[in-house]
Amino acid sequence: MKTALITGASSGIGQAAAIELSQKGYSLILIARRRDRLEQLKSKILNSTDNQNIIVECYTLDLKEQTSIKNWFQENIKNLEKVDILINCAGLARGISKVQDSNLLDWNEMIETNINGLITMTRLLIPNMIKKNKGHIVNLGSIAGRWSYTGGSVYCGTKHFVKAFSEALRQDLIGYNIRVTNIEPGMVNTEFSNVRLRDDKKAEEVYKGFSPLTAKDIAEIIVWSLERPQHVNIQEMVVFPTAQVSATQVYRELP
Ligand code: NAP
Repeated sequence: MKTALITGASSGIGQAAAIELSQKGYSLILIARRRDRLEQLKSKILNSTDNQNIIVECYTLDLKEQTSIKNWFQENIKNLEKVDILINCAGLARGISKVQDSNLLDWNEMIETNINGLITMTRLLIPNMIKKNKGHIVNLGSIAGRWSYTGGSVYCGTKHFVKAFSEALRQDLIGYNIRVTNIEPGMVNTEFSNVRLRDDKKAEEVYKGFSPLTAKDIAEIIVWSLERPQHVNIQEMVVFPTAQVSATQVYRELP
């Protein structure tokens, strides 16, 4: 029985990954700030499976707070020994302003979550994977980590960081039988744009007139990467909706 720890499991890609993995028989440790969402997901998963062996645990954690992450880890250190797979899904973009107009607090939130949260979780969970001589770390990068665009400076910067960190991490872990995968999606219809734009109406507009990726599309790719034979490491995967050809070019059929 494999155990996957998923950050950002209360919504979008993380939530979909939890559902897909439970269907494959993985036990889950779910992390996010919204406890109610995690508990709902846990009930949904447990009610839809006959597999009595699946264990689903929920932890409320703000990944912007490194001290909280460290304390949580120390409090649960024994229980976390069983983690074979870490899926670093928690992340966000805030705003679409140009650098000269941006809000410094938005920048901090993106850097603390997308970078500090991801590296802290990774650093804390790796020693046990090394001890077990097995493991898989899946990071949610983005096409923004490949191609920067106007209005996305710091978000793009954090996702370029995820790409660089994932590449170096894989090299640091040579010889330990631990795989590292960076998944880089284009537009996925989740709560991402609601969070980014802080406006549900505008968020809806983002996905109008074309078929964006769904969280399930990306979750299936995560599961596929995990289920490759142990000697196969999917290092990176860039995934666009067919109608999106670059970070800013989308073919829309509008009335
Ligand atoms: P989403 O639906 O908004 O989900 C984001 C998740 O991150 C939520 O579960 C949220 O949980 C969690 N999160 C955010 N800040 C957190 C914090 N401080 N502490 C703990 N958890 C936190 O967005 P999504 O599209 O699934 O995004 C998942 C990942 O995919 C992100 O890293 C994003 O950058 C990346 N991505 C998304 C797209 C896209 O178009 N959607 C494209 C490329 C890459 P709580 O709010 O409950 O804490």
